[in-house]
Amino acid sequence: MTSSTVFVSGANGYIAQHIVKQLLAKNYKVIGSVRSQSKGEDLASLVNNSNFSYVVIPSISDKDAFYEVLQKHPEITVFLHTASPVTFEVDDVERDLLRPAIDGTVNALAAIKKYGPQIERVVITSSGGAVLGFDNYFESDKIYDEESWNPITYEESKSSGPVNGYFGSKKFAELAAIEFVETEKPNFDVTFVTPVYNFGPQAYEVKDKSKLNVSAEVVNTVLKFKKGDAIPEFGNIFADVRDVARAHIVAFESENSKGKRLLVGTDNFTYDTIAYIINKHFPEVEIPQGDLSKNEAIYKSMVQKYDNSKTNAILGFDLIGLEQSIVDTVKQLLV
Ligand code: NAP
Repeated sequence: MTSSTVFVSGANGYIAQHIVKQLLAKNYKVIGSVRSQSKGEDLASLVNNSNFSYVVIPSISDKDAFYEVLQKHPEITVFLHTASPVTFEVDDVERDLLRPAIDGTVNALAAIKKYGPQIERVVITSSGGAVLGFDNYFESDKIYDEESWNPITYEESKSSGPVNGYFGSKKFAELAAIEFVETEKPNFDVTFVTPVYNFGPQAYEVKDKSKLNVSAEVVNTVLKFKKGDAIPEFGNIFADVRDVARAHIVAFESENSKGKRLLVGTDNFTYDTIAYIINKHFPEVEIPQGDLSKNEAIYKSMVQKYDNSKTNAILGFDLIGLEQSIVDTVKQLLV
């Protein structure tokens, strides 16, 4: 399959850059979409590989957003849809999070059905936010797995703040894709990758280390604490971004992943654990120590119990642990 051309939407994103890098390392040809020419040029110069090219798709919310690239590139056989708003800073949750996530997904699938009949494998980057319950929807005794759904409704996602709005955007985009496949019966199979919080280094050089994408910024936030600061209680489940990217490739290369959700996650994390690991490996960094004795209470109040053994059996590789991921992330940020 290594002569295939893979399309990656949102190719300049944190996760997508790793996907692009790993695809190229496996000799795939890659066409990525970005929202502007300047983002495309920046990415092309980072990637620096003749098997990579980009197209500009300013808005995935436009019905015909993906028509042209699919009409011009009948050699595309795999479509990875990663583009979706990832931000908690929005004025209007429905307009800025829910609609672009849902409409962008449906527009991609409808375009593939119309103009990409040769495409048989589609991977959609969903999120642990579609699977796990958070905030008021969190159940401390439940064991979540690949069949679980965050119980939040569309109306609740719209009205309970941007974080729940984001989780809702991923849930309802995923449900819209499932409905599309059921009603339209396209040529392709869809696999969903539903990762939890991604940490790990950026795939390429980082131009601006002051503010990273939402999940990588969690580690940056801890690095910005000052000695003597009280560390806020916050935690969840982590996956290394390099493994999440690799899961996207398994998602279309494997026969066993067709129609499945891959819940990619390994260790729990808290701000305190991250601070502890940074202190252990980078004693020169002056941040609070990190108190691991707080973890149990934090886990009980906000970190889901889960069983992703079905995913791990499909992935078939060992996942990077939290300590290694934090060390690799911080090394890149301190250079
Ligand atoms: P990211 O770095 O912010 O990348 C998001 C990508 O989507 C960027 O290319 C962005 O383009 C594009 N995008 C956002 N809104 C868009 C819109 N309205 N129209 C077109 N493109 C749009 O975030 P990421 O963490 O890599 O996320 C990639 C995917 O993984 C998303 O689907 C996200 O929901 C999912 N995910 C991420 C995590 C995580 O921990 N990072 C966990 C679970 C799931 P611009 O650069 O132009 O804004």
